[in-house]
Amino acid sequence: MEVFLLLLIPLIARFVNRYHKTGSVFPAFFLNAKHKAFLQTNFEFYQKLPPKSKKIFERRVALFISSKKFIPRQMEHITWEMKVLISASAIQLTFGFPKVNLSWFRYILVYPESFYSQTNKQQHKGEVNPRAKSIVLSWKDFVEGYLEPDGRNLGLHEMAHALRLENRIMNEDYNFLNHEILEEWEARAKHTMKEIKDGVETFFRKYGATNNEEFFAVAVENFFERPIEFNSKHPKTYRTLCRLLRQDPLLLENA
Ligand SMILES: [Zn+2]
Repeated sequence: MEVFLLLLIPLIARFVNRYHKTGSVFPAFFLNAKHKAFLQTNFEFYQKLPPKSKKIFERRVALFISSKKFIPRQMEHITWEMKVLISASAIQLTFGFPKVNLSWFRYILVYPESFYSQTNKQQHKGEVNPRAKSIVLSWKDFVEGYLEPDGRNLGLHEMAHALRLENRIMNEDYNFLNHEILEEWEARAKHTMKEIKDGVETFFRKYGATNNEEFFAVAVENFFERPIEFNSKHPKTYRTLCRLLRQDPLLLENA
């Protein structure tokens, strides 16, 4: 009997450990060959990663999927392809922070297209709701965001909002953005937002001048989609964002 109990201890420890890491005792989702092939054909960021980083990316996408509840809205169900791509967009943004899994956000709600938001009574393509612990996305707009490298990317935009909130809300992975770099970022953002408001043509679209949060989200979209242009137009802002997010998409461009 004692031997039997002793054998159980590592098993229980594994469940407890898994629960702490993912919020679920169910087995983690693993990326199989089909998922990896799908990422390789459909997710440019992953395509460009060196083999070692690809493995890390895969593990992190799997953990993200298994730790979130994906909820279909106005549609039948969420396919594995949707889960893989949405999670890949979160991991793309947080790739410089190995432990950050946007843990505050437990729910990913997916609509087929833009939806009516109860929060501010408007049609939305996406939103992040920290009270409901949810990230909400229109699938149509999510996909379109990744089709063209035009500096508009809904997935990265909403994940960027979630990242800043995750950094602020006290939970297991908060306060990971370096304070000094964040201050430097805010100063640069303020300067560029003022330029946009004054009618100066900048690299960023006008919506970025709405507030700090929107500027960050718009900058993140451009950081990943048009790093060469971003760096040539606003090199200091680009470098600050590299340091803040602990990664440099230009290194992947030149790989
Ligand atoms: Zn936004």
